Amino acid sequence: MKLETELNALDLALRAEAIDGFVPAKVHDIHAHVLEPSGYVPSTLGAHLQGLTISPASYRAAMELILPGRVTEALFFPFPSRQHDRLAVNRWMYAEIADQPESFQAGGLAIVAPTDDPRSTEEAMAAGICRGLKPYHFYVGRADTSQVALEEFAPEWMWQQCDRHGAIMMIHLMRDASVSDPVNRDSLLRLSEKYPNCQAVLAHVARSFNHRTVRGLSALAHRPNICVDTSAITESEGMRFALEVLGPGRVLYGSDYPISHLRGRCVTTGNQMLWLYAEENKAPEMTYIGIESLLSLREACRQVGLGQADVRRIFRDNAIALQARFHAQ
Ligand SMILES: [Zn+2]
Repeated sequence: MKLETELNALDLALRAEAIDGFVPAKVHDIHAHVLEPSGYVPSTLGAHLQGLTISPASYRAAMELILPGRVTEALFFPFPSRQHDRLAVNRWMYAEIADQPESFQAGGLAIVAPTDDPRSTEEAMAAGICRGLKPYHFYVGRADTSQVALEEFAPEWMWQQCDRHGAIMMIHLMRDASVSDPVNRDSLLRLSEKYPNCQAVLAHVARSFNHRTVRGLSALAHRPNICVDTSAITESEGMRFALEVLGPGRVLYGSDYPISHLRGRCVTTGNQMLWLYAEENKAPEMTYIGIESLLSLREACRQVGLGQADVRRIFRDNAIALQARFHAQ
């Protein structure tokens, strides 16, 4: 795998198909990663990320490739890894965001492990430099974390903290059936009701890389503090379902940069998700995941019959409204 920095003729053609007359002039990306290599154990990062610094500034430059001419703002969080200095990486991100020009609206979520001392993120939220939390399954202390329950990687102290501040919790669901798994569904119902001021964003359309898992979203549709982002999803089916059951006010555009700048796609097959990458499949005529994702989102919006105002909500207004709940009470 390789992080792309240039576009070929195919990329340009598909990008035009994805964005022309569709993506509005202003975009707020709810799901973008930063990376500061000294905070990571190199062997825990993929070869395509080793040694790279991904800052808000390099993000902005890279996004010009897939969203040229758009004013792109973002909510950032550090790239998760099995071993890194979370405190240092979070602090570096806060400083990087503070250094951005005022015209660039950016916020940051702290990466957190269940065993972390809640005081550091509590202080950062109180100071307004941390807008929420990004828990991740990697931080549950065992080798196979594919089937972890939500509470194992996002315990109640995280929900309480976000609830207290009206902050965002970015959730990457685990377990094979993702949001259709009854254990996940019950956890989300219970926690979103108990902590109504915690704004839960279910990343990757509730991690529906296999779009057949998305149907469980219906059971959560009545909970206003649950929404989804579109990051790294490259099929329209799950996006369309989310738009139908949650409505365009609770579907948010996310790039998942730097994942957006790999060549490939994730497809549903049977009850599996299958990631295809250009290099591994010796198929250079693949395009960016970020372009595939925009093509899928466009198709989903077309099928649901959304107008420009709704598309603007997905690309920016929903993200701004969500973040406006921070310290709103
Ligand atoms: Zn991500």
